[in-house]
Amino acid sequence: MKNNTNNYVCAVCGRREIKLWRPYMGTVPLICATCAEKRQSLRVYRETVSLNDVEGNTIGKTNINFPLPKWKVNEDGAIPSPVRPHYEESRPMTKRLLVNLSDVAREYSSGAMDMIPAIPDENGFFWGITSAPKDSVEWWKNLPTR
Ligand SMILES: [Zn+2]
Repeated sequence: MKNNTNNYVCAVCGRREIKLWRPYMGTVPLICATCAEKRQSLRVYRETVSLNDVEGNTIGKTNINFPLPKWKVNEDGAIPSPVRPHYEESRPMTKRLLVNLSDVAREYSSGAMDMIPAIPDENGFFWGITSAPKDSVEWWKNLPTR
């Protein structure tokens, strides 16, 4: 099987033959790890703690937002998942990147676009996140990250 990669180019820096991501619900813009890292959306972890009186009755709750550290895409194209930030050693990895594309494409002005691996098929379209065949997933994984 031959992937069609004619248009497989980062929309920001123009690089080819590296891993690219696409919007979860769209096909453009494609973006590379380096350009995504520069545009990553701030993520926070919301911690809720019960406030108790001297008898142990809950009298309220505090909600504090802790900013999560900035991520860097690793060689597999993955970052630490934003879930369970207090359990650093057991945090799952994810290949989904949340980035702010407002300077790249006007239609993505929300400030937080969910990006998934862009795995091209033989027709120049992209495979769905769960439907990509194994050899196409391997092809993406073997591309350099940067
Ligand atoms: Zn780029």
